[in-house]
Amino acid sequence: MRILITGGAGFIGCNLIHFLINNTSATVLNLDKITYSGNLQSLKKVEKHERYSFCQCDLCDFTHTKRLVFEFNPDIIMHLAAESHVDRSIEGPGDFIQTNIIGTYNLLESAKSYWQELKGNKKKNFRFHHISTDEVYGDLPHPDEVPQALIQHFTEQAPYAPSSPYSASKAGADHLVRAWCRTYGLPTLISNCSNNYGPYQFPEKLVPHIILNALGNKPLPIYGKGDQIRDWLYVEDHVKALYLVATRGKVGETYNIGGHNEKRNIDIAGAICQILDTLRPQAKKYDELITHVKDRPGHDRRYAIDASKIFSELGWKPAESFESGIQKTVEWYLENDVWWKSILDKNYQLQRLGVVKPSVSK
Ligand code: NAD
Repeated sequence: MRILITGGAGFIGCNLIHFLINNTSATVLNLDKITYSGNLQSLKKVEKHERYSFCQCDLCDFTHTKRLVFEFNPDIIMHLAAESHVDRSIEGPGDFIQTNIIGTYNLLESAKSYWQELKGNKKKNFRFHHISTDEVYGDLPHPDEVPQALIQHFTEQAPYAPSSPYSASKAGADHLVRAWCRTYGLPTLISNCSNNYGPYQFPEKLVPHIILNALGNKPLPIYGKGDQIRDWLYVEDHVKALYLVATRGKVGETYNIGGHNEKRNIDIAGAICQILDTLRPQAKKYDELITHVKDRPGHDRRYAIDASKIFSELGWKPAESFESGIQKTVEWYLENDVWWKSILDKNYQLQRLGVVKPSVSK
């Protein structure tokens, strides 16, 4: 099987490529622009593998994108490439519109032309899998504000109500993918997943940001009271779900993927501090570094995924609990300082983001 991955040098993409090379016989092409969040160092373990190749390409370049699709001759396209950070989308939405909407359109058009020329089983079995987020659904009532009985979860039927330029651009991409399926018959699938955490996540996102600031004895910035709730999923569980959706999902369907782990941001920071108190004890408790800062504009209060469809139809459920996943993640960052130090040295100043521009969500 030949799988073309877009955004394979990013956090989820590199974990997906590791999974595919180590656990399947798939031949993988990684198509990635290598923006600030793309990092080929994350693929060191597979870069020389005979079933892996990389091509630097911007999805906004239609001619290049289309040529690579035709040349690689894929059975499946898994589309992860995106601008993915909410805070950056508030400061500068333009790149989000370009990559997430125009880039997705270019990839859909390339895939459509390619698929229309296929014959027989190759055409019948071709799949286009678009990887999206639970943020397209907007937010849910917070348990502090409504009675327990009224607390809901996002199902695949939840209406779209994105709040940020990031989630609006992902919602736009989801709509394009559905339209290309309905109008042109392109065999597409969509998955909408909750917050991921785990190895190789770029240091601006909440979990690595807290770990690395704590190790540097810097303030641990938390938006507002830190009571925003997210559903957390260990990335290796997510990539297994993605493989199932791409290979066994039903064409035209959407699958919600979640970790059954609703946690407040402040509790995420607390859990990381507790693990560090044990693994890297120091004179003061790490949670003394927690610093509350002004909340993000339009900040969603709560996301929660109903992942019962992917369980009942494809048999997927997460293997990691939050406790086991966060333990593994902190250990990974402690053991892989070469990886994150090279990012901090090159193009990202953790100190600058320390208090002024904290990151507390996807
Ligand atoms: P990431 O920011 O770590 O990686 C994105 C990758 O896309 C990078 O390698 C980047 O170089 C590449 N890219 C960006 N613009 C491109 C362009 N124009 N052309 C080609 N490549 C380009 O993101 P991530 O956290 O790995 O997320 C991957 C996907 O999963 C995204 O679509 C995101 O919306 C979705 N998602 C993420 C989460 C999460 O918690 N991280 C949760 C649900 C869904």
